[in-house]
Amino acid sequence: MRWCAACRRYVSGHPRYCPTCGRTFSVRLCPRGHHNPRHVVFCTHCGSDNLSTPAPAEPGLDAGVHRASVIVTPFVIAGLVISTVLGTLILIDWMQLMRFLVAVGFMLGGCYWAISFLPPSVRRFVLAVGRRLFNAVRGTGDKSRQH
Ligand SMILES: [Zn+2]
Ligand SMILES: [Zn+2]
Repeated sequence: MRWCAACRRYVSGHPRYCPTCGRTFSVRLCPRGHHNPRHVVFCTHCGSDNLSTPAPAEPGLDAGVHRASVIVTPFVIAGLVISTVLGTLILIDWMQLMRFLVAVGFMLGGCYWAISFLPPSVRRFVLAVGRRLFNAVRGTGDKSRQH
């Protein structure tokens, strides 16, 4: 972002010339793009006298305010974005989410642990009952589909 003191407006991006009035910002540019202070008459690099017209110099305070706002504005925008994202993240109750995940983990681990403690015959019985239940559920499903 740049401030054109001739148009008294901000210009987005970092153009070399003001898109509204065609002036340069506080420097004089020769046709080859060399940067020169605003007071020179010939380019200090190539000697060209075809120098751009810079936007008028501003009183120190105005120039300071405009220069500061050009530097500060991106930080203000970034700060707003970061604080919005952080605010959203803080709204999620991380402790509650963690507690829920830990509880689910313990439940699954506990079931697996309990089954591994069963004697092999009982485990086979539990699996057989489970399979019969599964088949029964599937059977009724098939029957209901046939009717
Ligand atoms: Zn301008
Ligand atoms: Zn030059």
